[in-house]
This record gives sequence, structure tokens and C-alpha cells, in this order.
Amino acid sequence: AKSLGRSAYSLYTDNMQQQTQDKLNLFNDLHQAIEEEAFYLVFQPQLNSRGEASGAEVLCRWNNNGVPVAPDVFIAAAEETNLIIPLGRWILRQSCRHLQHWRQQGCLPASFRQLAVNISPIQFRDPQFESLINELLEEYSLEPQWLELEITENTFLGNNDEARNKIERLSQLGIRFALDDFGTGYSSLSYLQQLPLHKLKIDRSFITDIDKTDQPVPIIESIIQLGHNLGLDVIAEGVETEQQRDYLLAHQCYEFQGYWFSKPLNDEAFCRYLAELQSC
Ligand code: C2E
Ligand code: CA
Ligand code: CA
Ligand code: CA
Repeated sequence: AKSLGRSAYSLYTDNMQQQTQDKLNLFNDLHQAIEEEAFYLVFQPQLNSRGEASGAEVLCRWNNNGVPVAPDVFIAAAEETNLIIPLGRWILRQSCRHLQHWRQQGCLPASFRQLAVNISPIQFRDPQFESLINELLEEYSLEPQWLELEITENTFLGNNDEARNKIERLSQLGIRFALDDFGTGYSSLSYLQQLPLHKLKIDRSFITDIDKTDQPVPIIESIIQLGHNLGLDVIAEGVETEQQRDYLLAHQCYEFQGYWFSKPLNDEAFCRYLAELQSC
């Protein structure tokens, strides 16, 4: 599906003119898709060491006239055009709506703590971001603790203080923050100490290394220890094998997300998965 999405806009051909045309088409389609709300959300379960659901990550999907476009492609395009602000707003609202619905239906187990939503740096910088959060919490009667915002190190590039203050205020309110793709960025680690984060999310690229060798993977062990030393929870994404899960568990990582447990699921399949987990 991903390759289809890419080839539909041949962003990777050598032909510059074709590339520019494809990009314009993509921007146009995206603009229209936002107006038509042609996106949908899927939810990937997160599990604790007891095998219970601890939360889920929201992932956005777009079928453009039936052709799936890879999230990496349309999110990047949305960021380039600032369309990520209305799209991100829609994603947050739908996430809250689903969360309220699941709670009312009783589909969430007692172990379920958070719904994690990816927030692009541009969306986070939007001056109306905080009022949106407050509005949604009220509209969907959600305690702030239910929402976990996944941000990346790029959020702190440039106007550092503003982002830091915003995290500070939202964190005061009770919103949780996870640092996504941890270990792949270039920024200094000093900001880690200064921010009221709750969780480090180890990037999938490191998890893949576990199966390549019987040797320890020092980077992973260091990230987990760093997280613990800072008083943060640590979650691993992209866990695809039992060996990876066991390795992580043996090194004190107690939360997991990945195909080994479940692919991202639509609303109904997600609730069914949670029910099945509880019955076994
Ligand atoms: P991410 O935040 O690092 O999300 C994790 C990606 O890994 C998702 O890809 C997910 O489907 C995939 N994944 C999860 N488990 C496994 C696994 O076990 N194996 C493998 N090979 N992959 C796994 P996806 O959905 O294609 O999203 C790619 C990226 O697009 C995300 O990376 C995120 O940066 C961005 N994205 C997706 N949805 C949203 C959204 O709603 N808002 C924003 N701002 N960005 C989004
Ligand atoms: Ca993420
Ligand atoms: Ca990642
Ligand atoms: Ca990411």
C-alpha cells in the first residue's frame, strides 16, 4: 500500500517537471481532502508487561480516490503547506470523540491509561493549540490525563522557550507528553532534564537491531536507563518479534507497541481486540 501511495505521486523520479507537477497535484488533493474530511483514523494498541492494553496510538490514513497515500508522504506535504494545522485539529478532535465513545461503551479496560496523538511541530506552534486542547477536553468530558501528545525533538528547534513554556502549561493541566522517535534526532540531551515529559518512545530503527545479533544492543539499554534515571516511562515502538519483546522486557522496558501485538486497527476492530485481550 505504501509503495502505491508513493508511486501515485512519483515524488522520487528524476524528472523535475514531473516531480513539480506531482507535488502540486498532491497539495491540491490534500487541500480538497481536508475540506471533505476524506481521512480516517486507525489505532495501534500499546501493551504493558502483563499483556494488558495500556493505551493506543492514533495514526491517520488517507485513501485518495481509493489509492492509499503513505502517512509519511501526506503528513510531510501537509507540513510543507501548513495544512497540517487544520488536519491536525481534525485528528485531535476525532481522537477525543473516539475516546469519549469508547468510555461510554465500556470498551476500555481498567489498565487503559492514554490515547497518544502525534503532534507535528508546526501544529504545536499554532497560537490556538492550547485553546483547542481546552475546548476538546470540555466538549468530550475528558480528564487531561487521557491525552498523550507525541512530540519529536524538532519541536524544540528554533524558538525553544515558547515550546518549552507551552509544554509546561499543558503538563500543569494534566496532559501527558511522550518524546517520539527518541534517539534519531540531533539535538542535545540537556533539554530532556528541563522538560516535564512523561515518556520516551524508542524509535523502531533501534528495535530492528535486536534480531540481527545475539549481542547486547547498547543504545537501547542506554535509552531505557536514561529514561528511568529521568523518572520517565519508556515504550518501544515497532516490536515485531517475540525475541524483541523478551529482550526489551529483560532490559526493563515495560511498554510495547508493534505488529507482534497488533497492527493499527479501525475503530471496531480496535474494540474487538481489547475485548479479546481481556478474555484471555
Ligand atoms: P511514527 O509516529 O513513528 O509512527 C509509527 C509508525 O510505525 C506507523 O507508521 C506505524 O503504522 C508503524 N508501525 C507500528 N508498528 C510497527 C511494526 O511493528 N513494524 C513496522 N514495520 N512498522 C510499525 P505510519 O502509520 O505509516 O506512520 C508513519 C509516520 O507518519 C508516523 O511515524 C508519524 O510520524 C506520521 N503520522 C502518522 N499519523 C499521523 C498523525 O495523525 N499526525 C501526525 N502529525 N503524524 C502522523
Ligand atoms: Ca508516533
Ligand atoms: Ca518512529
Ligand atoms: Ca514519528
